[in-house]
Amino acid sequence: MDRPPVIRKTAQDLRLSPHWADFAGERGTFTWDGARRALQGLPGGGLNIGFEAVDRHAAGALREHVALRFVSRSGPALDVSYGDLARQTNRFANVLRSLGVGKGDHLFVLAGRMPELYVAVLGALKNGTVVTPLFSAFGPEPIATRLNLGGGQVLVTTDELYRRKVKPMRAQMPTLRHVLLVAEDGGVTQEPDTLDLGQLMAAASDVFSTVETRPDDPALLHFTSGTTGTPKGAVHVHGAAITHHATGRFALDLHGEDRYWCTADPGWVTGTSYGIIAPLLHGVTSLIDREEFDAERWYTLLEQEHISVWYTAPTAIRMLMKAGPELARQHHYPNLRFVASVGEPLNPEAVWWGKDVLGLPIHDNWWQTETGGIMIANTPAFDIKPGSMGRPLPGIEACIVEHLEGEGEPPRVRIIDLPNVEGELALKSGWPSMFRGYLNNEARYNKCFCDGLYLTGDLARVDADGYYWFIGRADDVIKSAGHLIGPFEVESVLLECPAVAEAGVIGKPDAMLGEVVKAFVSLKDGYKPSESLRMDISAHARKRLGAAVAPKEIAFLPVLPRTRSGKIMRRLLKARELGLPEGDTSTLEGGA
Ligand code: AMP
Repeated sequence: MDRPPVIRKTAQDLRLSPHWADFAGERGTFTWDGARRALQGLPGGGLNIGFEAVDRHAAGALREHVALRFVSRSGPALDVSYGDLARQTNRFANVLRSLGVGKGDHLFVLAGRMPELYVAVLGALKNGTVVTPLFSAFGPEPIATRLNLGGGQVLVTTDELYRRKVKPMRAQMPTLRHVLLVAEDGGVTQEPDTLDLGQLMAAASDVFSTVETRPDDPALLHFTSGTTGTPKGAVHVHGAAITHHATGRFALDLHGEDRYWCTADPGWVTGTSYGIIAPLLHGVTSLIDREEFDAERWYTLLEQEHISVWYTAPTAIRMLMKAGPELARQHHYPNLRFVASVGEPLNPEAVWWGKDVLGLPIHDNWWQTETGGIMIANTPAFDIKPGSMGRPLPGIEACIVEHLEGEGEPPRVRIIDLPNVEGELALKSGWPSMFRGYLNNEARYNKCFCDGLYLTGDLARVDADGYYWFIGRADDVIKSAGHLIGPFEVESVLLECPAVAEAGVIGKPDAMLGEVVKAFVSLKDGYKPSESLRMDISAHARKRLGAAVAPKEIAFLPVLPRTRSGKIMRRLLKARELGLPEGDTSTLEGGA
C-alpha cells in the first residue's frame, strides 16, 4: 500500500495536551540547569537517583500511589506503593550497610523481573552503591566476565539462578564477598556460602537516610559489547536522573496519571533507565510483566491494565505484526495515547501498523548504553516521518561527521554541513547522563571523543528538516532482538571447543530479530565437519553463553579470511554470506 511520507499529528494522537508542542521554542530555551530544578536534590547540592525516584514521592502526596505493579501468570497482581517502595529500599540499604557495603562498592543483580530486583537496584542507589543489573538469560560465562570486570562485591540473585549459573564459577570470582539469595517459594535458602535475602530484609530497619551522593558520583555500571576484547563497563552517574526525567517528559510524554509499560528487561540499559528510573521520577504507575513475550497476553495487558504510555522495541512489534491484525483488533485501547520504540531500526510499516491496529503511530527513538538516555526521538511535538529516528531532544546537539584520517587516535573528524550525506552520528558532549568512562579503560573512552563531540559508532544521515535516519553500525557489533552482542565474546567461547581452530562471528539479517548470530569456524587438524560436531559446538556455546547470545547458525569453512595483521575479516564473511560486493580486500592475507 502506498503511504504518505509524513504522519501528521491528529487530535487522536494527542489525547492529552503534550508537555511541549513548540519544538524550536523549547530547544531554544531549554537548559540542563533548569531541568535539574525539576528534581528535589539532597541538602548541600547532592543528587541521588534512588531518593528522587522513590523517597521524594513517598514523603509527599504520592505515598499511597502505586509505583510498581507486578503481574504474572502464576498469581494475583502485586501493587507496590511509593511508600512501600521507600520502606523496602530502606531495608535493603540497611542490609548492605550491615554487611559493610557502602558508597562506591559494586553490586550486581541477576534476576528475572521480580520485586526484589527493583528493591535491590533502588536500595543500592540510596546507599551510594554502584549497581549493575545483569540479563538473567545470560549463561555463566557472560555473568562471570562482567562481574569480574566490574569487581562486584555483592550479588543479588535467586536460588535457582545461583545454582545453575553462578555456583559453578564462584571460585573464579575473587572480588565477590556476599551472595544474597531470594529463596524459592518464600522458603529459606540452603545454599552454603550465601545469605538469605528475605531473612536479612525482615531483620533490617525500614528507616534509612540516603547517602550523600553528588551528581558526578557513579551510580550504575552498564556493560556494552564492542567489536574486540571483553565487554566495556560504561560508568553512569547519579546526575543521569536529570536526563531521565527530562526525556521522560519530552520523548515519552509522561504525565502523573499515566499507567506506563516499558517492556525491556532491566538487564539491558533501557529496562533500567526507562523501566525503573524515568517512570518513578515522574511518579507514574509502572507495569512490570514477569512473563516472556506472548502476543495475546500483551494485547490483553495493554487493554486490561489501562496502559496509557507504552515503550517497546522493534522485535516485539514485528512479532505482534506476525500474529496478525485480527488478534490486535479483538481488544480495545481507549487509554493508550503514546507508543514509542527503541533499540533497532523501526521499519516504516511498523510505524503505520501502530496507526492501523492500535490507532496510534509508533514513535521511534534512538539512544545507546553510553548516552544513558534518549537523545533523538519522534515526540508528540511534531509530525513523524516513518523510518526516521526523529529529531534531537532539547539539550541535545547532534550532527553527522566524517573521519579525516581513518582510525587515528585521537580520531579527527569534520562536521558534514550538507543534508542527506551519510557519516557517523555524533553528539555534542555534556548532557547529564553521558557515560563518564569505560571502567578501567581510559584509552577506549578517549577514543570516543573528538573536539567536544561524542562519536556514537552509528552511521546516519540528517535530512533538511533535521530528522535523523539510521543507516547502520560503523563496527561489527551484532543487534539481535534489540540486544547488543559482541562478536569477540562469542568467538572466544567457540575457541574453547577442542575442534575449533578459528572462529568469526557476524550478524546475519533476520526478518524477525533484526539480526541473528552466525558463526563461521575452521577446524583443527584431525577434525572433520559433521552435523554432530556442529551440534556439539552449538551445545557448548549455549551452555556457556546462554541462548540469547549463542550462535543460531554455525558454518564450517576450511580457513577464515584474515587481514595481513591476523584479524578475522568479519566484514568479508558478512559480504560473502549476503552475496554482497566484497569491498576493499587489499588488507586480506594472501591477497583478494
Ligand atoms: P545499546 O547500547 O545496547 O542500547 O545499543 C545501542 C545501539 O542500538 C545503537 O548504537 C544503535 O546501533 C542501535 N539503536 C538504538 N536505537 C535505535 C534506533 N531507533 N534505530 C536504529 N538503531 C538503533
